[in-house]
Amino acid sequence: MTDIVGKSWADIKIIALEKANDLPDYKKRLLFEFKEIEKQGAMSKWEEFYNEKKKFDSNPNNLVLPWVLNLLVDCDDPMAGRSDKILNTVRASKVYEYIKKHDHAPSDFVKDPDMPDIDLDCLPKARDPIKEYAMKQYGKDINDGYGPVCSVGTWQTYKLRSAIIDTISAMGFEKSAAWEVTTKLPDEVDDLKDGGKALCKGRIIQNGEESECGHRHPNVKCPKCGSTDTDGPTIAKLFAEHEMLANFAIEYPDVITCAVRIVGRIRNMGMHAGALIIADRSLYGNVPLARSNNKGYWISMWSEGRSPQLSKFGYIKWDILGLKTLQYIFNCCKLIEMNRGISFGDEYLQKSGHSQDLPPAMTGWDDIDPSENRAGHFFDENGVKHDISLNDKFALSLADEQKTDGVFQFDTDLAKSILANGVTNFNDLLFYNAAGHPGPMASIPEAVDNRDNDTGWRKKLKNIHPQLLEILDDTYGIILWQEQLAAIWQNLGGFTAPEAQDARKAVAKKWAHKLRGIEAKWILGASKSIGSDNAKDLWQKMVSFGRYAFNRSHGISYCLVAYRCLWLKAHFAPEWWAAVMSDCHPDKLVRYMGIARSEGWKPTDITRLGNYNSSADVKSVVFDTLNMYNLTSDFTVTGNVVNQGMIGIKGIGESVAEQYEGRIDFTDIDDFIDKKGGKKKTILERFIKLGSFKNVPGHENSKALWTYYQYKYCTGKDITKLKSELREMLLAREGWDSSTINDEIDRQIKEYRNTFPNRRKIPPKITNWKPKPDDSREKIMSLIVDDFTAENILEFEKEYLGYYLHSPLDIYDIEGNCTIENAKEVFENGGSPRIEAVIIDIDFAQTRTHKDYCRLIVSDGVQTALVLIWENELRIQREENLVPGSGVQIPVDYDKSRNSFVLHRGDMILKLLRKGWDKKQCLKD
Ligand SMILES: [Zn+2]
Repeated sequence: MTDIVGKSWADIKIIALEKANDLPDYKKRLLFEFKEIEKQGAMSKWEEFYNEKKKFDSNPNNLVLPWVLNLLVDCDDPMAGRSDKILNTVRASKVYEYIKKHDHAPSDFVKDPDMPDIDLDCLPKARDPIKEYAMKQYGKDINDGYGPVCSVGTWQTYKLRSAIIDTISAMGFEKSAAWEVTTKLPDEVDDLKDGGKALCKGRIIQNGEESECGHRHPNVKCPKCGSTDTDGPTIAKLFAEHEMLANFAIEYPDVITCAVRIVGRIRNMGMHAGALIIADRSLYGNVPLARSNNKGYWISMWSEGRSPQLSKFGYIKWDILGLKTLQYIFNCCKLIEMNRGISFGDEYLQKSGHSQDLPPAMTGWDDIDPSENRAGHFFDENGVKHDISLNDKFALSLADEQKTDGVFQFDTDLAKSILANGVTNFNDLLFYNAAGHPGPMASIPEAVDNRDNDTGWRKKLKNIHPQLLEILDDTYGIILWQEQLAAIWQNLGGFTAPEAQDARKAVAKKWAHKLRGIEAKWILGASKSIGSDNAKDLWQKMVSFGRYAFNRSHGISYCLVAYRCLWLKAHFAPEWWAAVMSDCHPDKLVRYMGIARSEGWKPTDITRLGNYNSSADVKSVVFDTLNMYNLTSDFTVTGNVVNQGMIGIKGIGESVAEQYEGRIDFTDIDDFIDKKGGKKKTILERFIKLGSFKNVPGHENSKALWTYYQYKYCTGKDITKLKSELREMLLAREGWDSSTINDEIDRQIKEYRNTFPNRRKIPPKITNWKPKPDDSREKIMSLIVDDFTAENILEFEKEYLGYYLHSPLDIYDIEGNCTIENAKEVFENGGSPRIEAVIIDIDFAQTRTHKDYCRLIVSDGVQTALVLIWENELRIQREENLVPGSGVQIPVDYDKSRNSFVLHRGDMILKLLRKGWDKKQCLKD
């Protein structure tokens, strides 16, 4: 029988080594592969391959063994593409050798190479091109198929629901049975952990001492202590809570058993959207790689959470992040350029005309020089260059007044409350932005006090140590930046730069074990220069505030982005809001629209931007319908008016928007339809009903235009009646009725008889004759006198946009009691304001003490305001008055601390009457 047994693993090794005898590299690699195969106990697999001469159709992990054994098909020499530049960690023995030889440690030797991540914020649309660029640029010299750049992987783990779905299909049952259950289960079931168990939180007494039970079990009740308290769901608890899950478990017991077991295991690998590893050599052999199905990128299987491991090997992770604010700024500048001819990019200015496919470079924003108080520059429409001040008082006053909605970093209530401490220069903004975090926030009052009052802090710091004042001078005596921490350690505590760097990291990461040593070193060193009391005092501040300290350049960069937002918003509010509203979350649209209207702006006099025209009146930002002469997908600006974009209209998608987009000259709606199309009723109906043609001469009446459009372009049964009615009206207008028509027929018959006396039969053309009216657009439209009512228009806006472009108060009889604008003033002057507005949104909530209250967002067409109704008042309101869309009169107080209105104590919200309704009649009803 021995002759049919093929070669053994020992034989194969000999054959392979013989083949590689003259190739030392191959031999070396083979020996390595032998060792690995034996370690894995895979020898019999190779015997099988060899004896049956199974062919590999691809190169399995670049092994040399199948190649020398001729088991490979269509594959190149695996050694040829192999990079020998495999990274090694620094070995202690090597360092020791070096020190023995040179008497000092190698200068580039870093003991703990904890590399930082590098974050790069970019336009969201630019992220993928930047990634592609990095791969191309850094991979151009490495052609091994792997390259030096890869994406970073992410792992998805099994949750109960995904585990059930995958298990059921793996076991060959119908997936739909699982779907039915999993789609109905709440998200909480996914909190179930590996094995369906949880830790018991019951209290037990052991040896006379009370402690937590801590038993891990899958039951409802702990088998050890009987408690039902656990740190998460158990599988038995889920069965008890969700009957359908329990029933499913009865029907498919194996599915549940298996699914519970795989919960928490890795389900599949994904790709981090922005993270990249960029190395200086091929990643092959250095980083475990997998290839993504998507775009074919190589992905590091050291996934995101493992970046410390990556950095231990000297790799740096880049996070390329799309930042929406940059899109706002970019789009705003583009709109300003198109609307006002003002350019923020040098290159762009040189190119004549507005090239759509060449985006402006906006290099003007890079021209920053704090020593010259410059945050950038722009060119006015005449090509004259103007500097953008780093301390523009209008931009700063927006921040000072907390008008920072939509502004990067300052859009939250918390940020606004910090701004309330006053903003007079860029440095203030910088300080607030960096201090707006839990630790340093506590130091804001001290900093503001130091800034605004003669507290003698400079003298105090100088007395401690002159260098301390130098370090903390521009942050009002407060530790704000990482650099300040490092400088204090170095200058006052005698730390070396790496020691200071180490200390900073320990503080930031709260490494208790390291902090003790650092503290001792600091107290020892600093006591010599500033005395032990000061040293202890400073140490406390450094560990409490320093934890959150920003890196200074990061802080300044972010603040500059925020400053650009403020500057654009202050000087070009219509463009700013159009840009923000085109890209913001749809939920924010209505609020932003209200804020834009209420905050207003002062139209910029561009030639005097440096010395801004401060006497100009504050104007509300006006929103209007589409501009038919320049249709755009997003919001756009014409003059000082923000125009609705097409994408925001329900029923209009990207392809339709594309068809209509662009500037166009036309004389009337027929010409427009001729040039752009418009046979599709739904689209033109929206344009017309939203009043978009009103600016076209002769098209002022939208209802008349809508009638004409249906007459001319619509077909179908529902339109026949309208068409014949219109024809009748036109005829009547021209003086035709049945008797004049009959007279005319008689006249024609008479004429025919005279002309053809021998013919007996009168042609039907004459007997059935009907007059043909002039049904031109002008004539048809002149028949419709009344336009859509304000109420109609609001309905259209609500239906097609979901919000109001026009004032919703137009349909009500208002008494002129109070607008939101002057309610605050009336209240502060001791009056009792009654706001007249329309309810936009209602939100019922509970306070922390479980009291019901209600938040009303109301709009008077110009501004929006928040009105709070506390529990007592809420109880006495009439429900029908608390409905979105209803016009109401609200007696309010102004609550300064909340910067909002509160329904006056014991008072009620009254309904406004619709226009034309008889008040007495209404009250009787
Ligand atoms: Zn227990």
